[in-house]
Amino acid sequence: MAISATKAWGRVERACRHMPVVLNTVLVLSITAEVSYLVLLEAPRDPDQRTSGWPAAWKGAHLLAQYFMLANITWNAWLFVTTSPSVRGVFLGGEAMGQGWRYCYACETHTPPRCSHCYDCNVCVLRRDHHCVFFGRCVGFRNYRYFLSCLLHMWAGLLYAVVMNAEVFIVILKEGVTLHSIMLLLVPWIMLVSGQVTARAFAFAFIADTCVVGFLLVAAFLFFHIVLMLRGQTTREWYSSRRPYSLGTLGNIRECLGSRWYLCWLCPLIPSPLPGDGIHFKVTGSLEPTVR
Ligand SMILES: [Zn+2]
Ligand SMILES: [Zn+2]
Repeated sequence: MAISATKAWGRVERACRHMPVVLNTVLVLSITAEVSYLVLLEAPRDPDQRTSGWPAAWKGAHLLAQYFMLANITWNAWLFVTTSPSVRGVFLGGEAMGQGWRYCYACETHTPPRCSHCYDCNVCVLRRDHHCVFFGRCVGFRNYRYFLSCLLHMWAGLLYAVVMNAEVFIVILKEGVTLHSIMLLLVPWIMLVSGQVTARAFAFAFIADTCVVGFLLVAAFLFFHIVLMLRGQTTREWYSSRRPYSLGTLGNIRECLGSRWYLCWLCPLIPSPLPGDGIHFKVTGSLEPTVR
């Protein structure tokens, strides 16, 4: 009895671990479906209120742009999750240990500078940035490019979705700033459950809301990571004002995105070899805190 309960709990725990990925996928696909619907049917206006039709080529360009961003988001996310950033299977060169090397008691190995142990992934991660809860994966030396590209296309896609959804807000607020329209925008779930709005109105309001909130979150996150990349720091190093591993702006960008940094974010297939190995880092500043 106790064993089956433990097993069941283990299964629930495993399922919960995948929840953020499932939720993200559902949201990304719903938003793409909604903006495609807005473009194809020129919704949300009623047919008799539409003033001018969009030419087929213009609609085609919109759909192309949408699926370009969707493909980049899913592909980069897939590569981010499947590219292991850990020390597993990496020859760390035991004898060449120097300043910044530490011993990890959990992994029972010596680990290079900027590497740290993740208790969620249960492994040491090279140039560890942080553990991404949305994908259940650590961001480290080898998958940083995919993480940043995914974030960039999410930002662009959500910006586009917010602009496209502006008309949804206009249609909702057309009846005036009433309690009904405010409630629909702020708490669409309650309005749906209480039978105040149709499922269609709910879906439009919910997705439009998600786009705005998602855009603000992703924009803040992207901005933070671009600043970190330019400064040559990881999230863990950001608390310190010292930047001992900074290689100058261009060098720092190359270290994160590889030699084809100017192109690689356009498509994850573009090869962009990283200049370093994630083990040895050029030290350009003081590693010790300055004593005053
Ligand atoms: Zn470890
Ligand atoms: Zn982790």
